[in-house]
Amino acid sequence: MKTKLTCPVCDRQEIVDDICPNCETNLHLMRILVELPSQPRGVPVVFVVLIAIACLILGILCSRVFVY
Ligand SMILES: [Zn+2]
Repeated sequence: MKTKLTCPVCDRQEIVDDICPNCETNLHLMRILVELPSQPRGVPVVFVVLIAIACLILGILCSRVFVY
């Protein structure tokens, strides 16, 4: 089953094919993006914050090692 798309060029709605019937824009790549499985957004943000904190601690430790 194909997702119904809205043409980004002419705003025609509920397009089922890969080509817009109104302006003949190729919507294949847009369809691939829309039909990608959605990922949970909370997990990657937590990972980014943890990596940022780890880099901060590592930077503080390294600066102390090199100063003394
Ligand atoms: Zn169109």
